[in-house]
Amino acid sequence: MKLRTKLWLLLVLSAAMSMVVFGFTSVWIGKAANKGYALFQLNPLAQSIVDSIQEQPKLDIDVLKQTLDRAHADHPAIRLVWLDDKGQSIYDTAGLNPTFTFHDLAMLMQNMPKSYLSGEDIRILTPAAKDGQSYFLLLSIPASAMKQGEMYFFVRKLSSLLTLVVPLILSFSIPFLLALWFFSVINRRIRKLNKALNQLSIQSDSPVVELKDSSKDELGQLTQHYNSMAHRIRAQFAEIQQFESKRKLLLSNLSHDLRTPLTTMLGYAEMIRTGNYQDQQELQARAKIILQRCRYMDKLLDQMLDISRQDADGMAIHLENHNLSELIRKIAAEYIMIFDGEPFQFDVEVPDEDIYLSMDAPLMERALRNLLDNAIRYGKDGRYLGIQLTADEQSVNVIVKDKGKGIPPEHQAQIFERFYRVDRGRKGEGLGIGLAIVKDIAEAHQGSIEMNSTPNVETAFRIKLPHLIRAS
Ligand code: ADP
Repeated sequence: MKLRTKLWLLLVLSAAMSMVVFGFTSVWIGKAANKGYALFQLNPLAQSIVDSIQEQPKLDIDVLKQTLDRAHADHPAIRLVWLDDKGQSIYDTAGLNPTFTFHDLAMLMQNMPKSYLSGEDIRILTPAAKDGQSYFLLLSIPASAMKQGEMYFFVRKLSSLLTLVVPLILSFSIPFLLALWFFSVINRRIRKLNKALNQLSIQSDSPVVELKDSSKDELGQLTQHYNSMAHRIRAQFAEIQQFESKRKLLLSNLSHDLRTPLTTMLGYAEMIRTGNYQDQQELQARAKIILQRCRYMDKLLDQMLDISRQDADGMAIHLENHNLSELIRKIAAEYIMIFDGEPFQFDVEVPDEDIYLSMDAPLMERALRNLLDNAIRYGKDGRYLGIQLTADEQSVNVIVKDKGKGIPPEHQAQIFERFYRVDRGRKGEGLGIGLAIVKDIAEAHQGSIEMNSTPNVETAFRIKLPHLIRAS
């Protein structure tokens, strides 16, 4: 059953129940808590006394006394006065024998209370006749002996009952109609939320259905939560997809990068084994290539190992005071040797004064080698390699520069992400891990890495380290 139908049923049922409950409880509580005479009982009582007097064969003072005293004994709170047609008391159970004027009698005949909240005695005048003579019976009762709260009405026709029932139903219905309106508004909001949740598909390319609900109540908050959750799910799914495609690319690059040198190495090793070479020089050349390929594979495996170790335990660094100037001079000397005799400009700028730094020297060396290797691998067309060390009060900077093809602006933001490579299709050029490792090493030393690249003009990577590195 729909929520709306349930609400309607609830409305009708509760309106009917509340009317029944109201009727029964008000009568029951009225009976229990509201003791005394009801106004509608008094007229029949007075009439029955008048009737019993009129039925007597003869009306004299004794008959009157006897009848009225008996009635008074049955109803001690009620005073009874028998009057003649001029308002003169004939017998009074209270013994006061008052006299009433014609005006008094006319007012009493009307039998109307003067006000609704009245503390006056209730008096009812009932006409009587005996032997052609007119009389009146005055029945008087103190307000304290009456029921303290009384509401009554007379219904003579069915149509007049309707005049009461319709306003009653209306008055009972108003709270329910308001409740129905309130619930239908809530119901509409829940339905919107439900529909949006049903439409929320993490994979779809369609934009996320954003709900607008400015109210601050729980449903409004739920809608806000839904909006942020929908965006988060989409973003996370996109991230997972990106990660998945990076993982696939990494696997295919890795298998290619290991297989290609392996094929060459197998070929050359077989050639050496069978003695299929011309002279010692060719033998040396082949052995050199095998060695180069081995180093390359070793480096790839090292990088993979670093990354998986880092994922498992985080980067572990061991800080010790080291001479950074000396480390840079040593590495620079090795790289200069690689280009010995080639038309290649190599700039090393290290201050005369040695710079000491608390650092993990092997990690720092790894970072510098990664930057230098990249500068050679990707920037050798510029025929320039620069390494510079500078220091000021707060920080120490190591800058590696080349003048090669550089990094196009659209790739610069992601260049330090793991597995990110500018030329994704090209294999045999690394796995996109080197710069991510450099960044991790710089950050482990509470430093940072920056990159500035103007393709074919200058590409510079700068590792910025604070002077004081605290062991963490
Ligand atoms: P890889 O192992 O693939 O070299 P890196 O993280 O070291 O991974 O580098 C990521 C990408 O950044 C490289 O694929 C390359 O396209 C680009 N890159 C890095 N250094 C340079 C540079 N000096 N000049 C041009 N491109 C570079």
